Amino acid sequence: MSCLFCKIINREVVSTIVFENDNILAFRDIGPQAPVHILIIPKRHISGLNGVTPDDNQLLGEIQNVAREIARSEKIDKSGYRLVCNCGQDAGQAVEHIHYHLLGGRKFGWPPG
Ligand code: 5GP
Ligand code: ZN
Repeated sequence: MSCLFCKIINREVVSTIVFENDNILAFRDIGPQAPVHILIIPKRHISGLNGVTPDDNQLLGEIQNVAREIARSEKIDKSGYRLVCNCGQDAGQAVEHIHYHLLGGRKFGWPPG
């Protein structure tokens, strides 16, 4: 499997892991766009949000629960944070393994640009 994030899951590529359970891994983004920038991914390879089905509802719910818990442990739950999933070319998805960016620790603009 040549997928970068699968390699991170398999420890073939080093990352700073902040959370792991049977289904989900969360690790710090290598190019942080905010003081807190963590990527949350399912361990099962799914190419992107377009590859998700209703069978994945529990997994997606679990990812949001993990995001909330990490936000608390990173102490950005009160100040605020964003959970972003880029899907496809126009959104700037660079890695084709679905991932959610948890961003916080500074104020963000809107629209996102
Ligand atoms: P995307 O643009 O696909 O939504 O986000 C991909 C993210 O993966 C980017 O924020 C990028 O900095 C991050 N990234 C790319 N390669 C690596 C890597 O090898 N390690 C880590 N930790 N993050 C990476
Ligand atoms: Zn993958």
